Amino acid sequence: MKKHILITGAGIAGLTAANFLAKQGHRVTLVDRSPSFSKAGFLISLKSFGVKIIDELGLTKALHAASSPSETVHFVETNEAIIRSIDYDNMNENIERSVLISRGGLHQVLYEAIKNDVHILFGTTISQVDEKEDYTQVALSNGHTLAVDLVIVSEGLRSATRERYFSDVQLKDFNTLYVGGKLKQKHARQVGIFKVYIDVDKMLSLYPIAEDEIAIQCYIRSYEDLRNLQNNAPSILDNAFGDYNAEVRQLLNNLLDKGLFFIDKMGMVHAPNLVTGRMVLLGDAGYCPTALSGMGASLSIYGAKALAHYISQYSEDISTACKNYNTLMQPIIEKFQTNAKNNAASFLPNNEVDLEKFVNGFRNASTIEVQNIMTAPIVLTKEQENFILH
Ligand SMILES: Cc1cc2nc3c(=O)[nH]c(=O)nc-3n(C[C@H](O)[C@H](O)[C@H](O)COP(=O)(O)OP(=O)(O)OC[C@H]3O[C@@H](n4cnc5c(N)ncnc54)[C@H](O)[C@@H]3O)c2cc1C
Repeated sequence: MKKHILITGAGIAGLTAANFLAKQGHRVTLVDRSPSFSKAGFLISLKSFGVKIIDELGLTKALHAASSPSETVHFVETNEAIIRSIDYDNMNENIERSVLISRGGLHQVLYEAIKNDVHILFGTTISQVDEKEDYTQVALSNGHTLAVDLVIVSEGLRSATRERYFSDVQLKDFNTLYVGGKLKQKHARQVGIFKVYIDVDKMLSLYPIAEDEIAIQCYIRSYEDLRNLQNNAPSILDNAFGDYNAEVRQLLNNLLDKGLFFIDKMGMVHAPNLVTGRMVLLGDAGYCPTALSGMGASLSIYGAKALAHYISQYSEDISTACKNYNTLMQPIIEKFQTNAKNNAASFLPNNEVDLEKFVNGFRNASTIEVQNIMTAPIVLTKEQENFILH
């Protein structure tokens, strides 16, 4: 029998789940607190199995149309000496070619595919959830009440519904700040050729994504509270990059003056159980691996497909479907969160000694070794890809 499924949070995870569940014929209602979708947002590189699943949804053409060119990335020291140059075609020889797209662009691709098949309520949140014997009653902020078979909570890192209804979940400060965004400005850089500065406690990436647009992303180790950081972007960037070359300093100033920029702290979500009653956590809300994993979007997409897979397998027993989803996801979450910690230690070295060690190792590694460093941590086993449980 077809179910009524409420998805709260129409980001990458929620929209992917909606795509799969609508295809299975379920009645899907999506709510999102934002008043509408925006095509903006920071850049993400969608990789590996995330690209493959988008293809399975028939959205590859739309994905590429919304993406930005990506050819080569140069990892450099602050004196501009190249540590390593990586060509995306070569790097992705044995796995799916990664796709560079803004977070909002990916939302749009997923949304366009289902907007006529699901009920989407913007500017709406959950006010109250009450588990009844055979169904779950959900009161929404727009005054309506729904009777649903399952609530998928995909509200991202700081999910309010998770905070209220899942008691065991921890949101741990990853002690890393990101400041970034996009800047509309003519520049002399080649589109698709990126530069990433590796430095002690910080990393700065420049992505020329069009002839008149550059995306800039900075990761800075920080032990301060987010509240003390949010209004201080100019001094934070100045402290971190004030001694970089004039072009970088100018770009950062322009980003703050004229660009669309975000500042936030990274957090890692640890949920020993992704399920409580008829509610299930999906995407960053349940297992945010941080931006330093580089795989949060793919993991959200995979989680959505996995959950939909078990719902189709156990459509009369949603509780078992959710239990299996949790069993499948736990070791995968552990793997990607561990990768993020390893990436933080490598790409955001703690001190000069670690920096030198990383730079020398990365510079002198063979092509095969680099391929392994970059791709081995971002693949799943065949069994995981096919949702086979032991
Ligand atoms: C700087 C940065 C760079 C990144 N780079 C990459 C990368 O290169 N590759 C990669 O794979 N991943 C990357 N990620 C991670 C990726 O963006 C996330 O893992 C992904 O967006 C998670 O999707 P989500 O749908 O779970 O959450 P989100 O994208 O956060 O979506 C959550 C949705 O829920 C809505 N919402 C929030 N609260 C409520 C509420 N109470 N009620 C209703 N709706 C609500 C929000 O409006 C939003 O639409 C990066 C992340 C950051 C911060």
